[in-house]
Amino acid sequence: MAYTDEQLQRIYDRTSGYCHICHKKLSFVNYAQYGARSAWEVDHSKAKARGGTNHGNNLYPACISCNRSKRAGSSRAARTRNGQCRAPYSRAKVRAKRNDNQLGGVITGGIIGSRFGPGGAVVGALLGAWFGDKNTPKK
Ligand SMILES: [Zn+2]
Repeated sequence: MAYTDEQLQRIYDRTSGYCHICHKKLSFVNYAQYGARSAWEVDHSKAKARGGTNHGNNLYPACISCNRSKRAGSSRAARTRNGQCRAPYSRAKVRAKRNDNQLGGVITGGIIGSRFGPGGAVVGALLGAWFGDKNTPKK
């Protein structure tokens, strides 16, 4: 199956350009460049042999060795073998999670800080935002 550049870009962006199985960084321009550094393929998360479709939500970028070793196995099993429990997040999702965590941190920090007076609330909120940010996955 051949993909247009636009389709490839959309698939690649789903994980911010990381293999959805081992989370290794992939090189967009090395799509299907077998033997090239960070080369990748489009993986059918649910294999076509198992009734998976060509719809965007079933397609993930995967490095060639992961895709080949996965064959018709499940994405979950392949990720588990690589010590991963999910696909990397898209940039938009990372951003959304960071905002959530920062907000949660600010609220938690503010509550903790307020026990130490008005200045404490500000310090607590700043610390909370920092912790929230630190706890945000980058991919
Ligand atoms: Zn991989």
